[in-house]
Amino acid sequence: MTQSEESMAPPKEIALLEMLSLVYEEMDIDAIEERFVNLTAEIFGFDRVGLFFVKHRKGMLQGKLCRGFEPGAISSLEIPVTAGNLLTRPLVTGFPVFNKETNTDASTLKLGLTNFALVPIVNKKRLSCWQIKKCYKNDCPAFGKRWLRCWLVPGTKCGDVPMDDCGQKELMCQECEVYAQQDVDAVEGVMVVDNSVSNRPIHPEQVTLLSIVSHAVGGAINNAKVYSRTLRESIHDELTGLYNRRFFNERLLDEVERTRRYGGHFSIVICDIDFFKRINDTFGHPIGDRVLVQVASVLQNNIRSSDMACRYGGEEFAVLLLNADKDLACSLAEQLRKKMAATPMADIGGDCITASFGVATFGKDSISFEGLVSKADQALYQAKTQGRNQVQSL
Ligand code: GH3
Ligand code: MG
Ligand code: MG
Repeated sequence: MTQSEESMAPPKEIALLEMLSLVYEEMDIDAIEERFVNLTAEIFGFDRVGLFFVKHRKGMLQGKLCRGFEPGAISSLEIPVTAGNLLTRPLVTGFPVFNKETNTDASTLKLGLTNFALVPIVNKKRLSCWQIKKCYKNDCPAFGKRWLRCWLVPGTKCGDVPMDDCGQKELMCQECEVYAQQDVDAVEGVMVVDNSVSNRPIHPEQVTLLSIVSHAVGGAINNAKVYSRTLRESIHDELTGLYNRRFFNERLLDEVERTRRYGGHFSIVICDIDFFKRINDTFGHPIGDRVLVQVASVLQNNIRSSDMACRYGGEEFAVLLLNADKDLACSLAEQLRKKMAATPMADIGGDCITASFGVATFGKDSISFEGLVSKADQALYQAKTQGRNQVQSL
């Protein structure tokens, strides 16, 4: 063995480290799930691994990805979460399922599963049984194991009866109040691990270990969901769904920097609804809000795919027009103005509203962020003072 080979960690240890980094560092849900499936196959050496996630509102378990199965074999499966379906059983009971020989369950038959385990992926921390039941038998292998329910730990002695077999455990646990209060809605998915091809045994210890890892990964998936929701909310306007001013300003700053360095051109348009106060005064604020939503969709549906519309403030909107010189920007703004003035607003009895537009172009009006915004504002002011429902630039 060479020195460099000696100093390298074996593949399984690297895979373990990767599993750790997945839990602590990865923020992309799809990447977490894909790496989880691959690392599980590598670390445990299973023939096949599949991942399902729960569609809570539809009450369905949806196949997502796999390793070792035929392409599409897992992702094409959508199984109702009912007591009769073996694959959805961890969602109903919170228990893993393993070493179940079955020749009656349609989905497992279809996948050719004869020697397999199903592990629930739980997304929040659970108190362990010994904590809930205040059981301090320190010779029990589950004692002191945080977040683990006894049924996941082989050889536990709940009620002084040693339980080695998962089926036996499940029967006993069904009598228990911890089991009755199972927070099964915290189950986000199910992982199927399978050795039906090689027929190597799947040991209870492996299922326990995998359950612990799944619990951590479930937490990571949950964190990633919260992170992506927060990120989405931080750059979007809540009412209209357009980008917000903060994101617009960031993109505008980037564009100023980029165009200063590499050349090219772009413009911005700031638009303000004419006499919007009257709409609020006549129809009330909630209807005013709905008009703002409709205005936003008129803008969004009538810009080029490379442009970016945002809600700039109350009844003001801004559009970043890439690769648009002054002439092009003015004609794009004019198209928006016409479209706005010709769109009946359902919420105010089909009347149309108008808006005024101010255009500023990088290079021609200013080469700074502040200068561009200020010039577009001045142009908008001009459009207002010269009669509204028009496009102006300086
Ligand atoms: P102008 O043509 O000069 O722009 O007249 P205007 O009435 O549109 O302008 P003004 O600045 O007097 O009034 C803007 C109104 O927009 C007042 C404010 O209550 C309303 N507004 C701002 N934000 C919202 C919002 O989120 N929802 C609703 N419904 N109204 C809003
Ligand atoms: Mg205004
Ligand atoms: Mg206005």
